[in-house]
Amino acid sequence: MHKKHNFGAGPCILPSSVMEQAAQAVINWGGMGLSILEVSHRSPEFEDVVLKTQLLVRELLSVPDHYSVLFLQGGASTQFAMVPMNFLSKGKKAAYLDTGYFAQKAIKEAKLFGEVALVASSKDKDYAYIPVDFNNDKQAAYLHCTSNNTIEGTEIFDFSTAGAPLICDMSSDIFSRKINITDFDLIYAGAQKNMGPAGMTLVIAKNEFLDQAKKEIPSMLDYRVFRDNMSMYNTPPVFSIYVAMLNLLWLKDQGGVNGIEQKNIEKAKLLYTEIDRNPLFYGTADVGHRSRMNVTFLAINKEVETGFLKFAADQGIVGIKGYRTVGGFRASLYNALPLSSVEVLVSAMASFEKIYSDKTVLELG
Ligand SMILES: *Cc1c(COP(=O)(O)O)cnc(C)c1O
Repeated sequence: MHKKHNFGAGPCILPSSVMEQAAQAVINWGGMGLSILEVSHRSPEFEDVVLKTQLLVRELLSVPDHYSVLFLQGGASTQFAMVPMNFLSKGKKAAYLDTGYFAQKAIKEAKLFGEVALVASSKDKDYAYIPVDFNNDKQAAYLHCTSNNTIEGTEIFDFSTAGAPLICDMSSDIFSRKINITDFDLIYAGAQKNMGPAGMTLVIAKNEFLDQAKKEIPSMLDYRVFRDNMSMYNTPPVFSIYVAMLNLLWLKDQGGVNGIEQKNIEKAKLLYTEIDRNPLFYGTADVGHRSRMNVTFLAINKEVETGFLKFAADQGIVGIKGYRTVGGFRASLYNALPLSSVEVLVSAMASFEKIYSDKTVLELG
């Protein structure tokens, strides 16, 4: 087996058992003598995959019956436009919580369709925290938030807000923890951070909310079209959906979302504890808003930064370079990343501290 310690922010690490099953299905799916890549999406076998995947989403996240589960394409970035296209009309306003890079991208698209009200922003502190005191105006068409800020390393832990319908971009923390679906009217997530390979976008939406969408929407951008056609209005991303199904089955075996949440808490705690202890590094997000999925931290100087990147790479640690606009480090601890990989990273940080202090003493002496 290949195996680097993959802390990449996306596409994410997937369990090796899932990779093996996926690889087998590419060659000969279920002994059918056909590859999953060439099978008709209208075949009963594949319809069964779509149904099973929907049921797994429902089961793992306790999605109530009055919500629909949809598989779309175009990534979370298409949702930035599709949400306002469906739910924001000229002369109306939509409320947005500005918590970072992806929230800003969503805001930019919404402005094409109507008025955007920024209810709160954490830009004043480089998005190191989640604003908590804000007014969720009932008059707004909806309030849009980003549950986990993949680049800045902050996460929302409290979604209780009365007012406008809540829409959430959960791309980078869906399936990583328990959520209460009924807190939201619509959730969307690009699959490639915790659900499966890139190519599919998950949407979970309250039917009553979907029914309020505008009437004149192009078919491929109309949620109701996907709902009415079991997500198969056109050719769906067959392989992505299939691998997502395998991955959700794996998640179920891990004790579901509750089971994985405990492991994710443990992984994040281990790494943050080392960041707080090690004099060469410091965390960037406010302690109460630290993300369990994307741990962002900086080195005390450029020498440590480049030195540690190389040191870590030599030990098979990949994907820890911070986002290009932020610098420093970002370690993504998605569901499939084992605790043992975090242990390797933490011990590399401690070893590097020792090497660096020995070397500094030598230079000074
Ligand atoms: C990665 C990411 C996106 C962009 O997703 P695409 O599927 O690449 O369009 C949007 N929002 C969040 C929170 C993300 O982490």
